Amino acid sequence: MSHHDDRPDVGFETLAIHAGQDPDATTGAVIPPVHMSSTYVQDGIGGLRGGYEYGRAGNPTRTALETQLATLEGGAHGLSFASGLAAEDALLRAVLKPGDELLIGDDVYGGTYRLVSRVLGAWGVRHRVVDLTDLSAVRDALDERPKLIWAETPSNPYLRITDIAALADLAHAHGALVVVDNTFATPALQRPLSLGADVVVHSTTKYLGGHSDVVGGAVVLQDDGLAEQVKFLQFAAGAVSGPLDAWLTTRGIKTLAVRMQRHGENALALAQRLVEHPAVTRVHYPGLPDHPGHEIAVRQSSGFGGMLTIELADGPAARRFAESTRLFTLAESLGGVESLVNHPASMTHASVRGTPLEVTESIVRLSVGLESVGDLVADVEAALARV
Ligand SMILES: *Cc1c(COP(=O)(O)O)cnc(C)c1O
Repeated sequence: MSHHDDRPDVGFETLAIHAGQDPDATTGAVIPPVHMSSTYVQDGIGGLRGGYEYGRAGNPTRTALETQLATLEGGAHGLSFASGLAAEDALLRAVLKPGDELLIGDDVYGGTYRLVSRVLGAWGVRHRVVDLTDLSAVRDALDERPKLIWAETPSNPYLRITDIAALADLAHAHGALVVVDNTFATPALQRPLSLGADVVVHSTTKYLGGHSDVVGGAVVLQDDGLAEQVKFLQFAAGAVSGPLDAWLTTRGIKTLAVRMQRHGENALALAQRLVEHPAVTRVHYPGLPDHPGHEIAVRQSSGFGGMLTIELADGPAARRFAESTRLFTLAESLGGVESLVNHPASMTHASVRGTPLEVTESIVRLSVGLESVGDLVADVEAALARV
């Protein structure tokens, strides 16, 4: 089943609201229903009415989400999963076999590195950590004939920018696939498939869902054969999204474009204030002109997103700051309408301690939400005053 809703002349905002979201054919309900059914009647053995036979294999609410995801990323196939890591796992096991190698960026979500190093590692897949912003280092690593390059851009937690088109050119010349984790940018700001990437993955838990009320993941890609293999693992291993989760995610995605625009405006305003602040040693935000990836970000995306990482004097200062904000809630995760603060070294990236991805104790990551920007700035400044 191809999930791409092919309306090339229609704008992103229109697609986000309408792709896969046709009114219900039987009742006329404008909003497609949540199909809470595990199984489907057969009119005689094998006589399926809508192509559905069992909830793990397919569900109409999940199809609505998968169509929306494929359309927004400009891919032929969208597949949704129970979590971002479930999506990553299915994709990696579809592409890699024991003995294969992959290259992974040196600044990625801690759980992705744990999956690659400990789960796929135990299965015999080898990995090599590379700074993907350094294309000559990538070129050297490609001599080992990796099957796949895993890029996260902007990366987590340092917001580094990888040149997707340049990486794809290099990888393809060496027979490697390029996977981009597009969780931070979202298709509202960056569409990696149009830049040459082979596969996009998402934690839809974050900006796509957008309201911190559902966990999910997705794989979007062009190649029919690879899509068939990922779909087989989705079915055979069964880490699918449930109908209510799929429905909540489709609802969140409808407002993605306006949310991402405001997340970016608020994050930029905060970043500009924080570069001036004496207690802040460094601000990592790709929207700042002196960010090393700024020019690439301007070229390959239409905005810089809502994530921002600051460095304070030391670990204790960073911890104290993270525990001192009032509006920014101390919690894992990101991408919801509410602002969150996180101390990566002890929270999201605790699992990469002692690995090449280890992050310093002195950074704090902010997920800048959609509250009044003046309130956000005041909250951060008050917390810095307490440090
Ligand atoms: C959260 C996250 C993941 C993992 O997704 P889950 O939905 O938590 O399984 C992967 N990549 C990035 C960039 C993330 O932020």
